Amino acid sequence: MEAVQVVRSRRKTIAIEIHPDGRVILRLPLRYPKTKIPEILEQYRDWITEKVRKFQEQQRQIPEHKFVEGETFLYLGKEYPLHILEHASRALEWNEAGFWMLKTDSHHARKLFLAWYQEKALAYFTARAKHFDKKFTDKPYQIKLSNARTRWGTCSTRGILRLSWRIIMAPPEIVDNVIVHELAHFLHQNHSRAFWEAVAAECPNYKQARAWLRNFGHLLAI
Ligand SMILES: [Zn+2]
Repeated sequence: MEAVQVVRSRRKTIAIEIHPDGRVILRLPLRYPKTKIPEILEQYRDWITEKVRKFQEQQRQIPEHKFVEGETFLYLGKEYPLHILEHASRALEWNEAGFWMLKTDSHHARKLFLAWYQEKALAYFTARAKHFDKKFTDKPYQIKLSNARTRWGTCSTRGILRLSWRIIMAPPEIVDNVIVHELAHFLHQNHSRAFWEAVAAECPNYKQARAWLRNFGHLLAI
């Protein structure tokens, strides 16, 4: 089994966390006897092994883009092929037929795509947040982008919604779900029943959306 990190805190229950990078964390109450640790690990052994295996498999599936003709890139849940052009007015463009990149700019293709995705992400997230925000806050807030791979959004009490630009690659209902989740934290700074009810009022399929992110979130990569 993987190396297990034991973290004790003022909690009443035991929890095991498996992280996508392979770390296994066992969370224990302060006074939980050390001698019982092997027993817990034995009890959850198959579950831990299976989770770690799943994450390792996901890591292998992460697309490694080479930015060549015909390669596909995700945008709002759809795959678009890349076309390399000899002549173009802009280094990278997109339309319904795909992405169009100028050949002479292909040496910094990843940077171009990143800038393109981030520009689209900020505009789209802002518009979607505006669509939902009345229900959750009447105070001004700011949307910022992060580069996170699993923590898709965070919300600070100082009014900053931080969303991973990667979400712009996911289907629109997934984007909405992440945004609504973070907006709902303006009302509830926890994951209480009231919080989930507020989320469900706008995104009735939030459970499926969360499952989608767990299963396919690793594919939101360039
Ligand atoms: Zn949350």
